[in-house]
Amino acid sequence: MNNHIKKMLRITDPSLKIIHVSYETIKNRQTIVIEATCSPYQKSCPNCGCTAQNQFGKLSIVKNGKKCVRVRLDQYNHLPTIIKIFKQRYKCKECSSNWTAQSSLVEKRCSIGYHVKFKVIDLLKEKCSLTLIAKLCHVSITTVIRILKGLRTYIPNPNTSSLPSVLMVDEFRSHASLEDKMSFICADGETGKLVDILPKRKLNKLTHYFMENPSRMNVRYLVTDMNAAYDQLTKRVFPNAKVVIDRFHIIKHLNKSFQDFRVKEMKRIAVTKNKEAYFKLKANWRYLTKNRSLIQHTEYKTWRSFRAPKYPYLTEAMMIDRLLNYSPALKETYECFHNIKLQGLTKYEEGIRNAMVYPYSNGKIEAKNTHIKTLKRVSYGFKSFDNMRTRIFMMNQLIIVK
Ligand SMILES: [Zn+2]
Repeated sequence: MNNHIKKMLRITDPSLKIIHVSYETIKNRQTIVIEATCSPYQKSCPNCGCTAQNQFGKLSIVKNGKKCVRVRLDQYNHLPTIIKIFKQRYKCKECSSNWTAQSSLVEKRCSIGYHVKFKVIDLLKEKCSLTLIAKLCHVSITTVIRILKGLRTYIPNPNTSSLPSVLMVDEFRSHASLEDKMSFICADGETGKLVDILPKRKLNKLTHYFMENPSRMNVRYLVTDMNAAYDQLTKRVFPNAKVVIDRFHIIKHLNKSFQDFRVKEMKRIAVTKNKEAYFKLKANWRYLTKNRSLIQHTEYKTWRSFRAPKYPYLTEAMMIDRLLNYSPALKETYECFHNIKLQGLTKYEEGIRNAMVYPYSNGKIEAKNTHIKTLKRVSYGFKSFDNMRTRIFMMNQLIIVK
């Protein structure tokens, strides 16, 4: 019976013997309490090293009372479970030292079993709050944080890890206590594997960080959004790298510039008392960003801002034309925006050209940022950058514990 219970509880320590199982109410919760003894045979004294029996056949190590410890186990059938271990104490007659038997269920001087620790570590990989983990494992938040902090040592050392040939870089909003609210993230552009996360994205910090890595010469492509600082980074740190600007960001940047200009122009029109034009542009701005190849040229119909009896029936193209006629400047910009899409982005010209040639994009890192956002939201933010970094590494399966 003893062995069956042990098997069910996944206790492998042979020196543990279960003597009693009962229910108790602990902290207002019904709890399974398992009582067990732990008294392994001691071959020698850990202090002086003498054997259990001396040369005259007399015992050198004698049993000397028991010590009761409570260890938290993983819940069993949704009931919190603890194990009371009566640990044998020993005394060495030769050197009069005392010690207590240790079970393999739990770390020395710790009351949380390994099972629970591994459960906490497993849950830390998920996007959930520390409070939830603490609740699920029936431990305190402090315990969860302690385990999380203990995992920091498992983070691969950035200075020895080699950089990939395609390096994606991006930034994400970290947390409020940092002066520079954006943090830096980089990943392998081909596999999507996370490389590292840094609290700051300032150029000098990044330069310093990457300069220490001997494999920086490996980097052939630096995939980035339109942050000019990374352009500098390539020149200084990655002499062999070409900058590739993410296509999505090119379009995004372009759209944003156009929208900014449209808003500016609309405000100007509003001030010059042409309120009607202002509202028409405001209501129909989407048509201005519409892909030109998709605009209808044949179907005549009535439009919300150009109702039929007052205005003639118009095609979509004609309607857009009317909108643009309110502002010659906007019309000109519209032409630029759609025809010479990349004008005004000459600063990034090289990177943009590369974006058309090489198949790398920032998509994978954007996905990572979304995950980080979710993690931050479910955790109600992070106080410590290091804890967040550890969890992001955990989430990306980059911390392997035993
Ligand atoms: Zn001894």
